[in-house]
Amino acid sequence: MIKTVGVIGAGTMGNGIAQVFAQAGFTVKLHDAAPPAIDRALKTIDKSLAKFVEKGKLAAADRDAALGRLSAAHTLDAFADVDYVVEAVVEHLDVKRKIFGDLDRITKPDVILTSNTSSISITTIGAATTRPDKVLGMHFMNPVPLMTLVELIRGQATSDASMLAASDLCRTLGKTPVEAADYPGFIANRILMPMINEAIYCVMESVGTPEAIDAVMKLGMNHPMGPLTLADFIGLDVCLAIMDVLHGGLGDPKYRPCPLLRRMVAAGHLGKKSGRGFYLYQ
Ligand code: NAD
Repeated sequence: MIKTVGVIGAGTMGNGIAQVFAQAGFTVKLHDAAPPAIDRALKTIDKSLAKFVEKGKLAAADRDAALGRLSAAHTLDAFADVDYVVEAVVEHLDVKRKIFGDLDRITKPDVILTSNTSSISITTIGAATTRPDKVLGMHFMNPVPLMTLVELIRGQATSDASMLAASDLCRTLGKTPVEAADYPGFIANRILMPMINEAIYCVMESVGTPEAIDAVMKLGMNHPMGPLTLADFIGLDVCLAIMDVLHGGLGDPKYRPCPLLRRMVAAGHLGKKSGRGFYLYQ
């Protein structure tokens, strides 16, 4: 029976993931290597829940109860009693493998360990543990409280029982699970990122301004948001990391990250989170 969930990584995704579990009645422990990130996450969750209350989608008492179920875990040892884990730290294989090795030692042996990775191999992450049958990808979409899809990624050794437990959990959270195989980028980013990368080539080659490119995809293709606005929202460093995984993992030059994307990341123009990407943010 899953009652307490450990979320590691309290950035853009981790705070949303912690929020949806707390709203669905789970006790949530939120850990981050950078303590200020946890404080920021708790403030973000507070604001997000307040918006739901303002819009009449959540009762004030339910907001208070959700906040009461959330706590900061200052060390990973606090995960010794959790029943399920979602990892949402930076998109780096070595960091994730180290964390999964630690989680394997710290958590109870029957606990399912999941990663919110956008593109890294679940099989490789699972191999850092002694329980690869209980390791799978649980790929939430941003912003987590609003987006209903969760891609569930089955690693080479993931058991049917683990996949089933994760799908049931998604439904409890009010999300729709879709299963994907463990190939670079899975389904979502295998399709989305090459489109974003191509939009960046269009900027680099002056095919159109960022505004023009976004307008074509919004008005012409009925996308709710243009690809460059979306890239800024995701974070250009995250986009580059995913393109590198697609390029390295699939070996096809069509996945080559756009040089302009590399240059913007090198300049620290990471999108919304740094105040500047294809657009400027306050
Ligand atoms: P982020 O940079 O906003 O947050 C990452 C957090 O991880 C930071 O707070 C950082 O302090 C923390 N961290 C780094 N190393 C750590 C460690 N060793 N132990 C504990 N905490 C550590 O990143 P994000 O955008 O939230 O992405 C997190 C994961 O979710 C990545 O794997 C990413 O690919 C994936 N993802 C991102 C998006 C998106 O739209 N941003 C969407 C889906 C999936």
